[in-house]
Amino acid sequence: MNLFQASPLDQWLERTLPAIQKPGRYVGNELNQVRKDWNSVPLHVALAFPDIYDLGLPNLGLAILYDLINKREDSLAERVFAPWVDMEAAMRSSGIPLFSLESQHPIRQFDILGITLPYETLYTNALNLLDLSGIPVHASKRTEEHPLIIAGGHAMLNPEPMAPFLDAVVVGEGEEAIQEIISTVKTWKQTSSPRSDLLNELARIPGVYIPGFYAPKTNSSGEYTGLKPLRQAATACIQKRIVGTLPDPVTDFIVPSIDVVHNRVAIEIMRGCTRGCRFCQAGMITRPVRERRVDEILNSLQTALDKTGFEEVALLSLSSSDHTKIKDIVEAIQNRFKEKHLTISLPSLRIESLSVELLEKLSGSRQTSFTLAPEAATDRLRRIINKPISDEALIDVTRLIYSRGWRVIKCYFMIGHPEETMDDVKAIADLCKRVVLEGRKFHGLKASLHAGISTFIPKPHTPFQWQAMDSLESITEKQHYLRGELRGPGLKMSWSDPQTSLLEAWLCRGDRQTSRAIYNAWKSGAKFDAWQDHFDFARWQSAFQEAGIDPFEFSHRVRSENEVFPWDHINIGVNKDYLLEDSKWSQKAELRPDCRENCYVCGILPTFKDTRRNNPGDHWGCPEVNTKKDKE
Ligand code: SF4
Repeated sequence: MNLFQASPLDQWLERTLPAIQKPGRYVGNELNQVRKDWNSVPLHVALAFPDIYDLGLPNLGLAILYDLINKREDSLAERVFAPWVDMEAAMRSSGIPLFSLESQHPIRQFDILGITLPYETLYTNALNLLDLSGIPVHASKRTEEHPLIIAGGHAMLNPEPMAPFLDAVVVGEGEEAIQEIISTVKTWKQTSSPRSDLLNELARIPGVYIPGFYAPKTNSSGEYTGLKPLRQAATACIQKRIVGTLPDPVTDFIVPSIDVVHNRVAIEIMRGCTRGCRFCQAGMITRPVRERRVDEILNSLQTALDKTGFEEVALLSLSSSDHTKIKDIVEAIQNRFKEKHLTISLPSLRIESLSVELLEKLSGSRQTSFTLAPEAATDRLRRIINKPISDEALIDVTRLIYSRGWRVIKCYFMIGHPEETMDDVKAIADLCKRVVLEGRKFHGLKASLHAGISTFIPKPHTPFQWQAMDSLESITEKQHYLRGELRGPGLKMSWSDPQTSLLEAWLCRGDRQTSRAIYNAWKSGAKFDAWQDHFDFARWQSAFQEAGIDPFEFSHRVRSENEVFPWDHINIGVNKDYLLEDSKWSQKAELRPDCRENCYVCGILPTFKDTRRNNPGDHWGCPEVNTKKDKE
């Protein structure tokens, strides 16, 4: 029996799905799905988000690529997500390979499998996805018969832990790179040349990294000294890609037939951030700032609402209230869509840029809660992490929010910075209590504050990349203290699991050897590591041990200034010297306020000066190149 034929698969699904949780995850056919005729399109791309449908479907990166690829006449894009454990068991026991949602073709039959990896705890799921597709997990074992496996996303700014599993990595923004990759693969398909020729051509595309074209180098003491290019096409550094102008927003959002995490129109209103929070990797790797025009946002929203019937719009960016026209955007949406009573969410708000006027404008929408991220509760620590906001300013803002009718405020804090003391942790509890007392003035006991407590991870490409993580014991103790304090009427606390944070640190700071531990963990059953009820820390400890790696070297060793990091061959455009200088400013508790007002010459301008010259306009957030150093 050929299980790869669509009709036997249909029959199998009909028999199997009634016993499976949420069968809607596996059948596709949603409103706005794109279904092209397989045989009349020369190039087939499967786009994977390696977690369940419910989480992956609303992912904006995936939606952007799906839209862009399907707009090409010569290619189609179909979706695939990680099957939940019950479905995986059923598929494995029946020998059903992983298939796409649109045409139900086996993933193995696609030309390209593009995997989105926004965070590291998806790595074992990515391997599982390959295995379920019948594709060898190691790139070295794949042949011309297999799809090209490409990954992208924020976690790929240190691709080394996943390097042996990937044929290619897109570093940075993928909108233009994917077009060039598709054209290259299409041309190669018309030849009978080996896969290595294709990889050679792909290596010439800016922003595309071919891990197999490099080997790690070490010195006589066994210390890592960088990657050695093994082919002529392999450049010493891979500079991230950016787009000069944000592509048209997605309007044809797929409308799911089952509950997913977000049912909404998502419009990215700005990319990049100039606030310079020193712990924030996204803020460093997505520079420079580019804004979207108000009219473009409105017109896209109109089309998207017409096509989906959604009642919520999320205005996304790392810091939505920093868009220079944010008030105009919110006001225009309120005016144009008055009768729809839309919920407008601004998921990332800066306390400093949250004005009375913006709150007044938002108060006409159905937004149910506000999220603020002070991160630290003492001025000293705020200066160290470069997120200055006084208690008074925070209290003023929360008072404004409560006074305008909102009852719930979410506040995010981070614990575990090396300079943190117990006084800083206690200050978090005190500040939260002060906030909820403000709320009570307006809502009595119905006022609420949810504190989200995350753990500091010294992320690559940040000024804190030289630092060590706090110990597991210390994090546990601090969380325990806060849990004791943040309880009672109106107070709620959620926190990140310290062992999961530790694994994230190992994986985000790891080197190429780390791939062995990832493989071992997956082989011994690790998957859905981002899910608390599936995450097994002991399994990961054994996986590292079996690989002969001490992972605490990645997470808990303070680095010297001249250390070569496993991610140093990835050029994010911000200079390593700048990051080091900023880490020294941090040690002196010196602030670098929003660099849009005072450029600190981070290096991004000269890196992308041609892109800016070719895409002129007032959408750029950084000032013009105006310093001697920038002109060099
Ligand atoms: S170039 Fe200047 S303004 Fe732009 S991100 Fe870098 S430091 Fe900030």
